[in-house]
Amino acid sequence: METTDIVRKLFDGVVPERASEIESIANDYEAQFRLIGDREGFNLDAGGFSAIQYTSRSTRQMWLFGYAGRQALHCYASLIVLLKSWGATLDINEINKIPDQAAEDEAFKSILDAVKDLSTAFHEDDFEWPVGIPEPEKGRPSDAERAAVYDLTCMATAYVFLHELKHVIFSAEGNAPEDPRDEEYRCDQFAKDMMITRIDQYAASSGYPPEKVRMKRMMGIALASAFILFATGRSRLAGSATHPPIYGRWSATVKDVNLPEDDWFWLYFSSFALALLKYYSINIQPKVVKDYKSLCLDLIADLENGI
Ligand SMILES: [Zn+2]
Repeated sequence: METTDIVRKLFDGVVPERASEIESIANDYEAQFRLIGDREGFNLDAGGFSAIQYTSRSTRQMWLFGYAGRQALHCYASLIVLLKSWGATLDINEINKIPDQAAEDEAFKSILDAVKDLSTAFHEDDFEWPVGIPEPEKGRPSDAERAAVYDLTCMATAYVFLHELKHVIFSAEGNAPEDPRDEEYRCDQFAKDMMITRIDQYAASSGYPPEKVRMKRMMGIALASAFILFATGRSRLAGSATHPPIYGRWSATVKDVNLPEDDWFWLYFSSFALALLKYYSINIQPKVVKDYKSLCLDLIADLENGI
């Protein structure tokens, strides 16, 4: 078995400016992205023999989770925009009193429940696909909102694959950091660098404004970061001997992001963080919404203090 065409196309679509470089790195280390047979759980990781193995069930979980991101925006984005324009305080107890908020939160929870059901189903085919979420096989949806979810999910998936590629590189070179938690941070950094550092080159050749490309790529990375939190599970959010705490990974991910404090990336990550913190009953401190970036950083602090 060798790298599937679907993974090649994924890198071509997500990071066209580096697709050939990624291919040659993979060749140098004899790394292969292999689709393996169905099994329970989320399986997308670097196994033995330089293989990065994944199941179709796992990429489908990420696909569904992309819609959780969209629902998080429906739950909180317009509210955050209003609070910011008033310079008002975000108080989750007040938000809970808003009519329809419970229904929006429930819609978010039902998507996360679907991701769990898909993960734990005896067989992938036993899972009943949720009504209202397009199936991945149908490709990029035509309406703008779902098309954006499609793009972000592709970016998030590419990010996770790149993270695993760095594990393979460390293993092949025998120079992984002594502390496995540091290795996780370094793999996150590698994946982020691959997606961000040559954006100007892509922007120049494609004609897209670089700041818009950066915004969208960072949103894809935010989606992956949110997924990592969810896949980690409530009881392990504080980290372990092998994995850093999620707030640490989130902080490292948003550090040095070259985007204005009111960029949509921050609004997206803030909305997602708020929805996930509430889902896990993690205490959200009342806070004045000065700008989206400081809100996002404050929510990461809530995650740190609330677990
Ligand atoms: Zn890892």
